[in-house]
Amino acid sequence: MARRAVIVVCDSLRQDLIRPDTAPVLAGLMADACAFRAYRSVFPSTTRTSSASMATGCLPATHGLLGNTMALDEGEGLVCRSVGNPDFRQRMRRATGATLKVPTLAQRLAPHGGAVVMSNVSAGAAYFHDPDGWGYVYHRAGSFGPGLEPETGDRHLAIGIGAEGDRAMTDRFCGEVLSDRRPALGVLWLSEPDHTGHAEPLGSPAHLAAIRTADDRVAQVLATVARLEAAGDAVLVVVCSDHGMETTRRTVDATARLVASGLKDAADSTDIVLAPNGTGAVIYAAPHARDRGPALRRFLEAEDWVGRVFAGPELAELGMPAGGDVLLALTTAADDEPNGYGVRGRADIVADPESSKSYDGFGQHGGIGVNEQNPFLVVRGGGFATARATDHPASLIDIAPTVLRHLGQPAEGMDGRALPLDPPQVV
Ligand SMILES: [Zn+2]
Repeated sequence: MARRAVIVVCDSLRQDLIRPDTAPVLAGLMADACAFRAYRSVFPSTTRTSSASMATGCLPATHGLLGNTMALDEGEGLVCRSVGNPDFRQRMRRATGATLKVPTLAQRLAPHGGAVVMSNVSAGAAYFHDPDGWGYVYHRAGSFGPGLEPETGDRHLAIGIGAEGDRAMTDRFCGEVLSDRRPALGVLWLSEPDHTGHAEPLGSPAHLAAIRTADDRVAQVLATVARLEAAGDAVLVVVCSDHGMETTRRTVDATARLVASGLKDAADSTDIVLAPNGTGAVIYAAPHARDRGPALRRFLEAEDWVGRVFAGPELAELGMPAGGDVLLALTTAADDEPNGYGVRGRADIVADPESSKSYDGFGQHGGIGVNEQNPFLVVRGGGFATARATDHPASLIDIAPTVLRHLGQPAEGMDGRALPLDPPQVV
């Protein structure tokens, strides 16, 4: 009997949008398997941070990847960089001497059956499952095996983002990866419904169609797992999303507001640097500017687009580093109003100067809002209770230790804890 683990991520899928009419396979799985209804994301609730937290079982404060964008000092002061770019891990090594500060599942499992990750989101999100090349990571911007050796030709995953690419990737994942190569861990990270949710209203026909395609991909994986189980494998299946979404109410040029406050010298200055993360932001300070923290906080707390500001010990409670270059973090203002399709929750977002796309009226995430912190998690096999719905606390960082327990490997050094096999049924 071979013990194996499979993780499927439906990027951005909100738990409240899983219903028998919108996602019949997932709704059925939630009813039949072990559904962790109180499951939460991390801060920032962005895909790249979530990938690193799922891979390491650790909070951003511990693994060091602090958002979809992040300020680095590569020798010329703090500059905000997109973590999504394929070269970010090289930049991070240059600035800090390393990529993630703690080992990934791919590293831990390298001598124990290995890991294969297929991801159809951004390059950065894919690569931070395994930034140093212990296993295999497949992504359209470049696929890599052990030692970061390129996987070229037919071995590369040449697909497009969106439903069609997700389908081609899942075909290959179910056949080549799960059935033929048989790694200890297989991770399949779908681009939908995140890709459509950022470009269409939540709950619109296009968004619901995207949710249905992700549901179809989950069905494909479950059918493959059933064949593996029939052949004698003991498979732990984790199906989840990394975060949810809020509807974008307004987009705010937060950096311009900081300059207007007089507490940041100029839009491109390196004294105070704001890293936009959708409905959240992280503010970094050069050593000589750290004393501006209290004034910055007072300024931000008076702004109508700011929800809550975090500093010092509050950063630690958020799972963010309280020292180093990070000075403050914030989440944006939000309300519970429905959009035109009856999907609740709107929030302001922080403009990303590197992106020309408008998200107004569409989905976004990054903070700790009610809906972006309502992703879904359902676990099947591996000794987990069936037909169970529980409110036992659960987080993205609990997935890695849960996988390692199933595979018989230690999970020392993780912030997360393996999920209970028999959690209490919700009353
Ligand atoms: Zn995501």
